[in-house]
Amino acid sequence: MQTFGGIKMLLANYHVHSDYCDGTNTLEEMVQAGISAGLTSLGLSSHFPLPFANDWTMKEENIESYLDDIKNLKEKYASQIELYCGMEIDFFIDRQDISDLAKAVLPRLDYTIMSIHTLGKTTGDDVSYIDESQQDFKRGIEKYYQGDTQAFIKDYYQGIEKMVEIFEPDILGHVDLIKKYNQNNYFFNENDNWYQETVRACLDGIAKKTTRLEINTGTNMRIPGVGRYPSDWMVPEMRKRNIPITIGGDSHSVAGIVFEYNQAEVYLEKCGYHEYWVLKKGRWEAQPLGV
Ligand SMILES: [Zn+2]
Ligand SMILES: [Zn+2]
Repeated sequence: MQTFGGIKMLLANYHVHSDYCDGTNTLEEMVQAGISAGLTSLGLSSHFPLPFANDWTMKEENIESYLDDIKNLKEKYASQIELYCGMEIDFFIDRQDISDLAKAVLPRLDYTIMSIHTLGKTTGDDVSYIDESQQDFKRGIEKYYQGDTQAFIKDYYQGIEKMVEIFEPDILGHVDLIKKYNQNNYFFNENDNWYQETVRACLDGIAKKTTRLEINTGTNMRIPGVGRYPSDWMVPEMRKRNIPITIGGDSHSVAGIVFEYNQAEVYLEKCGYHEYWVLKKGRWEAQPLGV
């Protein structure tokens, strides 16, 4: 931790998008924003191409230039910040797998975030997403689960657990993304027993692996009121299970580079977390919180 004008601050961000996918700024602008914010370790994590048509991930033909650009930025800014080349890779519940292309590129990355964004069948072009819109999410639950939200949510968390069990990614992205369009308990109630039991079972599985669970601070910037991923009640449950954490802004623009970082840090300390994990000289290390 460093202090800037007396304000405590987390030093890293491993969830950063750019105009290679659905972000608005270039990789270099995101790097400069990280430096200005006082970060010492920054991971770039564009959405990995999907094996079906979409308008929000990187294009397959741009993978090489993405890797090259980050290599050049690492050299250019070496004296100011440690940069890491990552991608946010999708796990598909219907396939219980990531794409073959992702498997081929994965060894070339410094680290990976794995996340689930889709539901139902991911063959063909009519794919439903969890985080595209409330309407699209609802359509997916109706189409693939006959409107049974609970059945989908159980599949979702079992999918998260399976993803961690099989691939043990460096970072698990936004574990409870399914709440993004759950305003006024539109789809489900997080206080319900069945929901909390489902989450706890998933956390039990995650705790068996080294995967770090991401504290994702960027949501309120895009949809005010959603809060962080994971929800506040889950953090003590994670702590109890000694699940390691990383910090990520899910930053889609320079303005989101350290969005709500201070609030996140205060809350983590309150829940008894004493450290978060950062990449230093290419290795994951525990970094003290609030010292
Ligand atoms: Zn994501
Ligand atoms: Zn993201």
